[in-house]
Amino acid sequence: MERKIFHGNIKPADIAQALLGEFNQGNLLAQTIGQSDRMIVQISSRPDAMSGGMTAMTVTIQQMEEEGVIVELGQQAWLGLAASLGASALAAIRNPFSLLGRLDDIAQDFEHLQLGERIWQVIAKTVRTAGASTELSDKLKRLTCEFCHTANPVGEPACLACGAPLGNLQPDTCKKCGYVVKAGVKTCPNCKQSL
Ligand SMILES: [Zn+2]
Ligand SMILES: [Zn+2]
Repeated sequence: MERKIFHGNIKPADIAQALLGEFNQGNLLAQTIGQSDRMIVQISSRPDAMSGGMTAMTVTIQQMEEEGVIVELGQQAWLGLAASLGASALAAIRNPFSLLGRLDDIAQDFEHLQLGERIWQVIAKTVRTAGASTELSDKLKRLTCEFCHTANPVGEPACLACGAPLGNLQPDTCKKCGYVVKAGVKTCPNCKQSL
């Protein structure tokens, strides 16, 4: 399972709509389950698809208490794909020309292999269009000094108003997945990216 967090003015329905528009066509089928604050989008191959094995992926989009969403992409499920590719490879060893009749299947299976990547691409584009990102919004970036309650920008070592040190309280995000981390953390606890 892969998880990304997007901060800003974005709603689960925005992402669900974009995924439906992109994936509910051709050899794929997409449907949404759930209400406004928690939506699940299931993308799968059509049962009556003309080529390729069967596959399915589930995207869960959760509204955060503050503005933004948490997106989780589940493990891709396969049915028949491994067998489909395996049979092709085996047949090709015996007779290379046998592949010709299976090119549609192979092309479709390889397309399915990139499904997860394509899902993240559609999500990234939707998020960017909405003006959200894996970085904290200016509103959330501001850190309130615990002594004088002045809002300070992120990265400021000391309170602009009273000079109290802010150092370790400063929040930041992993640029890859949007997970909120404390200043000085070396590795993202969510995606293991080094910061
Ligand atoms: Zn202060
Ligand atoms: Zn991360």
